[in-house]
Amino acid sequence: MSRVYNFSAGPAVLPEEVLKTAASEMLDYHGCGMSVMEMSHRSKMFDDIIKTAEADLRELLSIPDDYSVIFLQGGAHLLFAGIPMNFLKKKAGYIITGQWATKAFKEAAKQGEAVELASSKDKTFSYIPDCSDLPITDDMDYVYICENNTIYGTKYHTLPNTKGRPLVSDVSSCFLSEPMDVTKYDFIYAGVQKNVGPAGVQIVIAKNSFLTDDVKPYTPDIMNYKLMAEKESLLNTPPCYGIYICGLVFKWLKEMGGLKEMGRRNEEKAKILYDFLDQSKLFKGTVRKEDRSIMNVPFVTGDADLDAKFVAESKAAGLENLKGHRTVGGMRASIYNAMPRAGVEKLVEFMEAFEKANS
Ligand SMILES: *Cc1c(COP(=O)(O)O)cnc(C)c1O
Repeated sequence: MSRVYNFSAGPAVLPEEVLKTAASEMLDYHGCGMSVMEMSHRSKMFDDIIKTAEADLRELLSIPDDYSVIFLQGGAHLLFAGIPMNFLKKKAGYIITGQWATKAFKEAAKQGEAVELASSKDKTFSYIPDCSDLPITDDMDYVYICENNTIYGTKYHTLPNTKGRPLVSDVSSCFLSEPMDVTKYDFIYAGVQKNVGPAGVQIVIAKNSFLTDDVKPYTPDIMNYKLMAEKESLLNTPPCYGIYICGLVFKWLKEMGGLKEMGRRNEEKAKILYDFLDQSKLFKGTVRKEDRSIMNVPFVTGDADLDAKFVAESKAAGLENLKGHRTVGGMRASIYNAMPRAGVEKLVEFMEAFEKANS
C-alpha cells in the first residue's frame, strides 16, 4: 500500500488513523456483528454514534446549550437554497467573495430580496472586502458570508460588522481548522467533505432563537432546520456512515489536542508554504497577504504551460491534486487538518527543484 500526499480541495485527505479505525470496524462494529452501514438509524448503536459525535463536537467548539447541532445531507448547495427558505422574510444581505457566495446569493434572489453588500469580484476574489461599515439595514433578516473561500484562498480574519443583524456563515473549508467563537454567529454550516469527513454530510450549528417555524410554505420538512433540530437530525434516515466517520474525526481532533493545537499546526504548515512563495522568483501567491487562508493556497507561475507542467510533474512525484479550480487555473494546495507537515515540506522541496530546473 502506498498513500500519496493529497492536496485535493474536496473531497479531501482524511486522517490515516481514522481510516484505519474505520477499516478495522468495517465488518463488525464493536462486536455487534455488522457494519455501521448496515445498522438501523433507530438502533441503540447508531444512537450512541450520533450522540457521541455531537457531544465531542460540542466539546471541541465549546458550543453553548442554546445552540443546536444538526446533521443534514444535500451538500452546501442545498443549504444555499434552504437558508433563504427558512430565514429570508424581507431582505437578506450577501457579501460576495467568490463562487460559493455568488451561488448562495442567486438562490436567495430566487426567493426574495437579496442585497449584495460588498464584493471582491473586481480583482478575481483575491481579497476580502472591508466589512466594517456595510450598507446593512435593520430590515435585513441576516447577513451571509462564505468565511473561507476554497477556490480563491481567502479567509475572513475579522468577521463583518453586521450592525446587530444575525450572521450566517458557510465555513465548509475552514471548519475545525482552528478555534472559533460560535456565539458570534446565528447559523454556521459546513459541508464536511473539505476538512472533516466524507461527502454527504452537512453540519449545522444554529442558535435556537434564530431557528423558526415561519418558513416559506414550500419548504420540505427535511429542509426545515427547526424541525430537523427538534427531531435531532433523525426525521428521516441521516447519512449514517458519514456521521460515524465525522465522529471518528472529532475523536482524532481531541486526541491531537483540540482546535487550538490544530490551529497552531495549520498556521505552521501554511507558513512553510507562504514563506516559500514570498521569496520565490517563479511562483507567486494570488491572494492579498492579510486575507490569506491557511487551508487553501492558490499560486501561479504566470505561464499556463508551465503551470500544466508543474501539475503533471508534481503528480508523478506523489503530490496529487495540485491543479487549481477549473474556473481560475494555476495551482492550489489544500492543506487541511489531515495533511501532515511532511506533505507541505515535500511540496516546497518539489517547488524549489522545479524552480531551479525551469528558470
Ligand atoms: C465545496 C464548497 C461548497 C460546495 O459544496 P457542495 O457540497 O458541493 O454543495 C460550498 N461552500 C464552500 C466554502 C465550499 O468549500
